[in-house]
Amino acid sequence: MEFIQQHANWLYLVGAILFILTLRGLSGPKTAIQGNRYGMIAMGIAVVTTFFIAEQPVVWMIVGAMVLGAIVGIARARTVPMTQMPETVALMHSLVGLAAVLIAIAAILHNNQLISLYAQDAAAMSAAGVAPSHMNQVHLFELFVGCFVGAITFTASVFAYGKLAAKKWAKTIAGAWVKPVQALIFIAMLACGVYFFTTGNMSAFWAMTALALVFGWVWIAPVGGGDMPVVVSLLNSFSGWAAAGIGFTLENNMLIVAGSLVGSSGAILSYIMCKAMNRNIINVLFGGAMGGAATAANNADAGEKVQRNYRSGSADDAGFLMSNADSVVIVPGYGMAQGRAQNAVKELSELLKEQGVTVRFAIHPVAGRMPGHMNVLLAEADVPYDDILEMDEINSDFPATDVVLVIGANDVVNPAAKDDTSSPIYGMPILEAHKARTIMVIKRSMATGYAGLDNDLFYNEKTMMVFGDAKKVVEDMTKAINGTGH
Ligand code: NDP
Repeated sequence: MEFIQQHANWLYLVGAILFILTLRGLSGPKTAIQGNRYGMIAMGIAVVTTFFIAEQPVVWMIVGAMVLGAIVGIARARTVPMTQMPETVALMHSLVGLAAVLIAIAAILHNNQLISLYAQDAAAMSAAGVAPSHMNQVHLFELFVGCFVGAITFTASVFAYGKLAAKKWAKTIAGAWVKPVQALIFIAMLACGVYFFTTGNMSAFWAMTALALVFGWVWIAPVGGGDMPVVVSLLNSFSGWAAAGIGFTLENNMLIVAGSLVGSSGAILSYIMCKAMNRNIINVLFGGAMGGAATAANNADAGEKVQRNYRSGSADDAGFLMSNADSVVIVPGYGMAQGRAQNAVKELSELLKEQGVTVRFAIHPVAGRMPGHMNVLLAEADVPYDDILEMDEINSDFPATDVVLVIGANDVVNPAAKDDTSSPIYGMPILEAHKARTIMVIKRSMATGYAGLDNDLFYNEKTMMVFGDAKKVVEDMTKAINGTGH
C-alpha cells in the first residue's frame, strides 16, 4: 500500500502508456483484442492507484459505488443486443457528462465557504483595482469549463440516444427560430460562466449549468439524419474533455491524461467522419444540411409520393444470378445489423467462393449506426479482413463487378448524393453500387433509410429488389445456391 502511495505518479505513467498502446491496438482489427487487453490493465492500475492515494477515503461509499456500477455494467453488457450498441454508446457518453457536472457541483459545495470568501475578496480587490488570486481563478475556471462541457455532453448525448433508438421524444427541430435561440442560450451561458469565474457568484454558476443543459439539447436536436455520425463521434470527444476537466478539479493526473486521449481521438474521428461525408464541421453543427434533411423527411411524411416502378425478384433468382457471376461485391448497411444477418452473410460468401466467385465486402465509413459498425459485425462473423475493403479502395471496381448485393444499406448507396444538388446528402461520397452490371437489394419494403430520403438506386433498371428480413433472405439465397450447384 505504501509502495502505491509513494509511486502513484509512476503507476499513472505506466497506465497512460498502456492507454496509448490501447488506442494504437484499436486502430486495426487484427490488433484490437490486444489493444483491449492493454486498456483493461491500464484501467485496473488507474482504479487501484487512485483508491490507495485518496485522502480520507469513505471506503464503503467507493466500494459500494463500484460494486453497484459493476453489477449494472455487467448486466447491461450481457443483455444489450448488438443492434442496440450505438444508442448504448451514446448513453455511456451521457454518463461521463453527468459525472463531470456532479463532480463540479460537489467541488463547489465542498469549497462553498472558500468561494464566497473569494467572492467578497474579489469584490474588495476589484474595488481597489487589484486582480484576484491566481489560484482561485484557475480553480474556478476548471470548474466552469468542466461543468459546462459536461452539461452539454449530458443532454446532447441523451438526445442522441433517443434519436438512435428512434424514441418519440427525440424530435428533430427545425425553423428560422432555431439558430437565434441557440445563439442566445449560448451567449447567456457564457455570460453567466464569466460572471461566476470573475466573482465566484453561486447563482451565476447554477444559471450557467441550467443553460448548458438546455443548450446541449437545442444544439443537437436540429441536426439532420445524415449528419448524426459526426455528432456521435463529437460527443465521444466531448465526454473525454469533460473527464479531463474532472481530472483538473480532482487533481488527478491519470484522469487528465485518459480524458485528453479520449477527447483528442474523438476529435480526430470527427474529422475523419466529416471528410468521409464531405461535410464541414461548422456546417454540421450550426446549420447547413440539417434544415434540408429535416425538410426532406417532412416532405416524405406529407405523403406527396409519386408512384414509381421497380423490379422485384425472389431469393432463388438472386442466388442463381450470383452463383453464375464472376465477381460479387456485398454492401452491408444498418439492415444487416438490425436483422443480425452477419453470420448468414459470411456463410453465403463462403459458398460463393467455393463455387469460384470472387466475393468482397465494401464498407462505407458511416454505414450502420456507429463508427466501425459493419467492421465489428463482419469481424464477429469471422469474415477474413482481406476481403473487406474501404470505400476508396473499392469504388473504382464497381463498373467491372457482375453483381452488387446490397444488404440493408440505403443512404450509403444513394446516387442522389452524387447527382442531385438539391438533396440534403448532396456531396457525401457513396459506394457507387449503381455502376455495377446488376444490383440486388435486400430490404423489407421500399421505406427510406436514416436520412429519410428516397433512393433512385431501387428504381434503376439494373436493380432487383429482394424483399424480406436480411437474415431470412440471405439464408434462402444460400439454400438456393446449394440446391442448384454451379
Ligand atoms: P440506412 O439507415 O440508410 O438504411 C438501412 C435500411 O435497412 C433501411 O432502408 C431498411 O429498409 C433496411 N432494414 C432495416 N432492417 C432490416 C432488416 N431486418 N432486414 C432487411 N433490411 C432492413 O442505413 P445505411 O447503413 O445505408 O446508412 C447509415 C445511415 O445512418 C446514414 O444516413 C448515416 O449518416 C446514419 N448514421 C450513421 C451513424 C454511424 O456512426 N455509422 C450514426 C448515426 C447515423 P426497410 O425498412 O425497408 O427494411
